[in-house]
Amino acid sequence: MKLDIIIKNGNIIDGTGKKEYKSHIGIKENKIVDIINIGEKNIQADKIIDAKNLSVSPGFIDVHSHADVALLNDGEHANGIMQGITTEIIAPDGLTLAPLSVKNYQLYKWYLSGILGVPKNDLDMSSIEKARLNYDSKTSCNVAMFAGHGPIRLEAIGMEDKPLKGKKLDHAKSLLSESFEQGAVGFSTGLSYYPNSFSDSDEICELMKVAKIYDKPMSIHLRNHNTDRAFHDGGVMEAIEIAKRTETKLHIEHYKPDFNQSISEVLDPVDKAKDSGVDITLETYPYPVGSSFPQTFFPSYFHEGGPEKMIQKLNNTEEREILISKMIGTHYGNPSNNVWTHIVSDKNKHLEGMLFEEVADMWKISVEEMLCRVMYEESLGCGFRGAPPRNIKVWRQVEKNVMELLSRPDYMIGSDAIPTGGLPHPRAYGCFPRVLGRLRRRYNYPIEQVIQRITENPAQRFNLSGRGNIKKGFFADIVIFDQDHINDRSSFEDPNVHPEGIPWVIVNGKIAVENEKTTGVLSGKAIP
Ligand SMILES: [Zn+2]
Repeated sequence: MKLDIIIKNGNIIDGTGKKEYKSHIGIKENKIVDIINIGEKNIQADKIIDAKNLSVSPGFIDVHSHADVALLNDGEHANGIMQGITTEIIAPDGLTLAPLSVKNYQLYKWYLSGILGVPKNDLDMSSIEKARLNYDSKTSCNVAMFAGHGPIRLEAIGMEDKPLKGKKLDHAKSLLSESFEQGAVGFSTGLSYYPNSFSDSDEICELMKVAKIYDKPMSIHLRNHNTDRAFHDGGVMEAIEIAKRTETKLHIEHYKPDFNQSISEVLDPVDKAKDSGVDITLETYPYPVGSSFPQTFFPSYFHEGGPEKMIQKLNNTEEREILISKMIGTHYGNPSNNVWTHIVSDKNKHLEGMLFEEVADMWKISVEEMLCRVMYEESLGCGFRGAPPRNIKVWRQVEKNVMELLSRPDYMIGSDAIPTGGLPHPRAYGCFPRVLGRLRRRYNYPIEQVIQRITENPAQRFNLSGRGNIKKGFFADIVIFDQDHINDRSSFEDPNVHPEGIPWVIVNGKIAVENEKTTGVLSGKAIP
């Protein structure tokens, strides 16, 4: 058989965790059709890639990506594919744009514009099936989707501050069931975002009973809003209790110790629950601070009625004062020490890269008032990231923790990438090579183990069959990299820079990156 592509002389790290070995890999159409003995001379292919002194692994799977809209606006998706990400799992935190009616699509795309960016007006996102068609063969990487709590709630009850009950709950359950039928890989929620946080724990249990039928996990951003509605006051104990009561699989998003916590302290409740039979996996990203959109600092009532009402509240002096006093008096996270990453208007574009306090000082107002003003002037189109610690020892501790967490078989990488705006968090460009390059080498972790965590592990957890391993009959999603030189080059100061040491990326048997440059080939599929 004449092959389409042969990858010769590479060191195969097959995703199982097994020791690397030398072989040729034969690709025909979209599959790996042969793993060929290195002594075999008589092989023919249209394209020969010489991988001598390079490592060949399955494509990386990012289990937490906010590229929902970025992928629709630019399918080439250089910031992801050049890291070796061949599958993006989008719609984490319950924040996504399907399934939504035309009216709710307009509403939610506005509400989410600070985190997702701005998509086209006329996309059909009325179901997961329709949404998948917007990605299928139109992106460089494969796209898998969660069924998000946000859109499902919007369809069931709008932006109303009430836990779902009765007929409205039934509606939400049937939408979730339909989403699973159409290929959603799990249920996602983020309980510092809206309308998700209008829920109580009972509502989430009811939704997870549907997930139980389809054997799908819940991917959860732990609750810090409306904690009085939650089992055990939210946080990790709420998530565990829901999984326990409904006997469902739990996946905990971006879970790692804070600067002043130990690993054992934060993992203890997880390990206790696992010992008692709860099925839990987790993810993390290798940076000391995160990124989000300002909605997360605003109390529950502010989100009621959606963007139009929010803008009215921001524009009314009295309402704005009440809002600011409530923000100061609550526990939704301290907004200081953050930096604007994404500003929609030309007028305020210069704020990108500025610290919240600097902008507040410049305007001689409080940080909270500054947030209200920018949200109003940008009509919600703004996002931020944390300011990284200045003390390098803190960085090192975070990195050490991340690598230690990744040595656990239940961990994987979720970049939490927000590839939006002029100065995004560097994780959107550098997350995977950072782990696989400088951090793996600095802390001396076995490469086979690190690769397993970012390939086979997520493929099995989210049931992406035929992916996550180098194996005969599997889809040819492949990354070829130089294990001694692979590195991220994206920094907080200069984030939009691609990594080095990843010369080739193949998606479904087609070359997406060649000699560290994107080819423009869009062979990604909506999967599974
Ligand atoms: Zn996220």
